Amino acid sequence: WPTTNTRSYDVAVHSVGKIPLGIKRKGLRVVVTGGAGFVGSHLVDRLISRGDSVIVVDNFFTGRKENVMHHFRNPNFELLRHDVVEPLLLEVDQIYHLACPASPVHYKFNPTNVVGTLNMLGLAKRIGARFLLTSTSEVYGDPLQHPQKETYWGNVNPIGVRSCYDEGKRTAETLAMDYHRGAGVEVRIARIFNTYGPRMCLDDGRVVSNFVAQALRKEALTVYGDGKQTRSFQYVSDLVEGLMRLMEGEHVGPFNLGNPGEFTMLELAKVVQETIDPEAKIEYRPNTEDDPHKRKPDITRAKELLGWEPKVDLRKGLPLMVSDFRQRIFGDQKEGAT
Ligand code: NAD
Ligand code: UDP
Ligand code: UDP
Repeated sequence: WPTTNTRSYDVAVHSVGKIPLGIKRKGLRVVVTGGAGFVGSHLVDRLISRGDSVIVVDNFFTGRKENVMHHFRNPNFELLRHDVVEPLLLEVDQIYHLACPASPVHYKFNPTNVVGTLNMLGLAKRIGARFLLTSTSEVYGDPLQHPQKETYWGNVNPIGVRSCYDEGKRTAETLAMDYHRGAGVEVRIARIFNTYGPRMCLDDGRVVSNFVAQALRKEALTVYGDGKQTRSFQYVSDLVEGLMRLMEGEHVGPFNLGNPGEFTMLELAKVVQETIDPEAKIEYRPNTEDDPHKRKPDITRAKELLGWEPKVDLRKGLPLMVSDFRQRIFGDQKEGAT
């Protein structure tokens, strides 16, 4: 658990357990790559609301201007259309590096994880910025340890259909640690477990967005395989809180950020039925290759060292996402996105 030198602003941050992150000293200059995406746009909202100047760098591969357009008139906000696979020159204090095609449908054959991360680390090195990588629970592959601790090295198929993402993120972690050890870059690594919430990409193939959109459209919920595989679902506001605590704290990580509440896909389908439509049917489909059988984070480290744990369970979080999806699918102006 390597630590790095803290900066003056860490003093306030370290009392994170006592002082809410929202109450903050002077504003920082922050880049959020992938800031027009699902997680990134929620992070941008929090950073802007605490007074930071935020530059979103996004190529709109899966992100949308709509996710951040409520900040367009704010002089503390800038939106830059840019592919992080190309070099970038900016001067900032912190870099949240989220840019990445994150759904299995999108991430194949894309060099963002390796080349994009290398460029953003090069940028961090040149300007002395702190760099946070959003890695993933996928680095554990189809895990042979349950629940997964950060010390587990994983079980990943290096040539499988998911490997561009799994191995891409593993390489991104390696690059981050090498820049940390070799060039003194202050890095932070988060391993994010399945996250859901408003502004998730519609129709990008992930299970929560699929089930919610299907139930709203009166279509059958598509359960892949026997539906007994498990995932642990985290609400987006909990993740954003964890990312900010990690960035501002003194520990490099990696840290698991996820909700330990574990569900089979059939259990998830049941919660979706209870929340949206008890009559929704279930349709079984063949599962995808190399699908991890189970996944659940051990979050002891984040609890102890970041003072963080999730607060929103699935039954509380799902309705918050449903109203946003309903509005985007049916254009119901009465239901607002959060
Ligand atoms: P998302 O697809 O909504 O957001 C990714 C953003 O990155 C999009 O706005 C996209 O346009 C942008 N992007 C992609 N390639 C880019 C490039 N080359 N240059 C510039 N911008 C680019 O996905 P998300 O769920 O918000 O994921 C954000 C981060 O969190 C990703 O790094 C992802 O791997 C990680 N993560 C997410 C989850 C989850 O469940 N949501 C789980 C584990 C890890
Ligand atoms: N880079 C960038 N912005 C910067 C500095 C570097 O995009 O402000 C990119 C640079 O183009 C290179 C990568 O980051 O591809 C790694 O940079 P570094 O200086 O670490 O390596 P080098 O260029 O010496 O190989
Ligand atoms: N899944 C499913 N129906 C769907 C989409 C996904 O049953 O419509 C399953 C998928 O096989 C996997 C789990 O849900 O076991 C989570 O898939 P997702 O793509 O959301 O996330 P990841 O596999 O990356 O954890």
